[in-house]
Amino acid sequence: MNILLVYPEVPDTFWSFKHALKFLNKKVASQPLGLLTIAALLPTEWNKRLVDLNCMKLKQSDLSWADYVFISAMSIQKKSVLKIIKQCNESGTKIVAGGPLFTTEYEQFETVEHFVLNEAEITIPEFLKDISIGNTKHIYSTSDFPDIKESPTPMWELADFGNYATMNIQYSRGCPYNCEFCNITTLFGHRPRIKSVEQVLKELDSLYNLGWHKSIFFVDDNFIGNKKILKKELLPALIEWRKGKKGISFNTEVSINLADDKELMNLMVNAGFDMVFIGIETPEELSLAECNKKQNMNRNLIESVKLIQRSGLQVQGGFILGFDNDTQSTFQTVIDFIQNSGIVTAMVGLLQAPTNTLLYKRLMQEGRILASMSGDNADGTTNIIPKMDLDKLLSGYKHVINQLYSPLLFNDRVKIFLREYKAPKVKIKSDVSNLYKNVIAFIRSIYILGITDKERIYYWKLFVWTLFRKPKRFGLSITFAIYGYHFRKISEKCQ
Ligand code: SF4
Repeated sequence: MNILLVYPEVPDTFWSFKHALKFLNKKVASQPLGLLTIAALLPTEWNKRLVDLNCMKLKQSDLSWADYVFISAMSIQKKSVLKIIKQCNESGTKIVAGGPLFTTEYEQFETVEHFVLNEAEITIPEFLKDISIGNTKHIYSTSDFPDIKESPTPMWELADFGNYATMNIQYSRGCPYNCEFCNITTLFGHRPRIKSVEQVLKELDSLYNLGWHKSIFFVDDNFIGNKKILKKELLPALIEWRKGKKGISFNTEVSINLADDKELMNLMVNAGFDMVFIGIETPEELSLAECNKKQNMNRNLIESVKLIQRSGLQVQGGFILGFDNDTQSTFQTVIDFIQNSGIVTAMVGLLQAPTNTLLYKRLMQEGRILASMSGDNADGTTNIIPKMDLDKLLSGYKHVINQLYSPLLFNDRVKIFLREYKAPKVKIKSDVSNLYKNVIAFIRSIYILGITDKERIYYWKLFVWTLFRKPKRFGLSITFAIYGYHFRKISEKCQ
């Protein structure tokens, strides 16, 4: 059996980092972890190929070779998904589809032969069993959550590492919280399920042995969902594993209560974590209560962010505008919060209601759902009827984006962060090829940001400031200048 795993194109979005990747000569931020895991769940004797449309083309010869095309996608990839389905239908190649987009909206794709929905560790074996007896169904779904200790090591070898800036890996699924707008708990449940330490180390070993000596992103919904085991087992094991390894650093997604646990922060930093993403959502207490973001309430959020930064972790933040309790003053409150917190990478989007979330159900009852959402967190669109007048919300949103990604405020934020940040004492052992690529990226930054860009004065201002005030953070500062260029390009699309 020949299986073609096709990953649809992700458009140019905040998290695609497309405008930043060209400095590193990379095509894509990260590899399609879901499809590589699916590949490992299929029989070993089947032939498998990966076509990632973010860096490759889907050729007719690929489709002619394949007995089945497996597609996994998120909402944001819908446009590309429709194109792939059309190509497959025209060439008569059968499709097997799964992942969040199909799990929540499979009815919209009438010409797909098989849907393997929810978590593949349960539904793929059922599909395989039916293939073996020649009696397949249209839909395979489950309301159960598998024990991910049974999940195999993804087939990293199908991906061309040269295309990617970072590699994704997963330790846990599910989140104990219950934020109203979030579909993570709908898809993966409240009880964080974890892999065994041996399993994670095996995955890391196989990545490292295949030559990956760079950043690794734990794509967990909330990495600190089970702190006890993390502190007792995984983090000490990662500290040991990383000894002598070159170029490896980790980053992940956590909830803000990380700031309450000094021991956990220290362990993460010692294990090689250098950055965490946190859903801060809003500094408005009433809006936090509205969306049930309990863990963010009744605390000094700026101080929490700074505690994490001082521990040696950069904080990236997600913010939302358009809650029912937001007012005209919220826009400036959000700008001030982000500036004062020194969150350089701050993604601000409008409130959207993913299908089947608590928010979706509430707004459906109130007659406030317009359509399915775009899946882009920061494209200035929404699928709900907000309480605030839509034109006022949109103009306030554009104002926030324009301000935050203006070179002036962006540079200020970098400086605020660099003043606060305490770099970890544990150093990452450098890999020569990474050093070479960083030098090339630096030279490109001089040409693109320092010579040809209309905002070049800000590049040189930050360059000089860092050289004199924070010379040890010079590399980080240049990385931020490159990020700032990407964010500015993305914000220009929202005008
Ligand atoms: S903490 Fe994050 S992952 Fe968990 S429910 Fe809230 S938004 Fe979702």
